[in-house]
Amino acid sequence: MINLVLDYGHGGSKPGAVHGAAVEKELNLLTGEEVYGYMHNLYGQSQDFRVFLTRDGDYDISLRSRAGLINEAHHVYPVSLALSVHYNAAGNLKAQGFEVFYAEGSTRGESAAKAITESVEQSGIIKLRGRGYKTTAQLGRRLAFIHNTAPPAVLVEVGFITNPEDRAKALSANFRQDIGKAIAVGIGNYVGF
Ligand SMILES: [Zn+2]
Repeated sequence: MINLVLDYGHGGSKPGAVHGAAVEKELNLLTGEEVYGYMHNLYGQSQDFRVFLTRDGDYDISLRSRAGLINEAHHVYPVSLALSVHYNAAGNLKAQGFEVFYAEGSTRGESAAKAITESVEQSGIIKLRGRGYKTTAQLGRRLAFIHNTAPPAVLVEVGFITNPEDRAKALSANFRQDIGKAIAVGIGNYVGF
């Protein structure tokens, strides 16, 4: 049995980034639900796995609670990967592209980040930012979701809602389906489905 955790960033009173019609907490939930759905559509018949969620609606859950839930689950059912879904924002409106972060020195975190990036690159639906996957050391700051959790963890920044091209994609249900599928395929490749 493979155990996975999906985390939809922000929620409730914490919208995350907001730009025009794009509200990050909503996009995270909608995109994360596509990942969840495709995990079951693609692998539900053939593979033995389950996906835990830290939130399944629009409500507050602190980073501390998310890490606590993940670590509790991991203690009982070793978790192969915890993945958090986000959209990015920047003052430079030209900043765009897909990125995945993992902890420096985490071999499994790196292989998950790489597999997800390769799947997204092959899908061709959004540009990668740089090579797509990088460590939080390269980012220049620690991410609680990655550093306060025991299992291998990655944080996906699907695209920049401050960039017109990325934002139009983020607001498209078709794009969210496609990126959800690409991320699910990447997770499947990482765990060996
Ligand atoms: Zn975020």
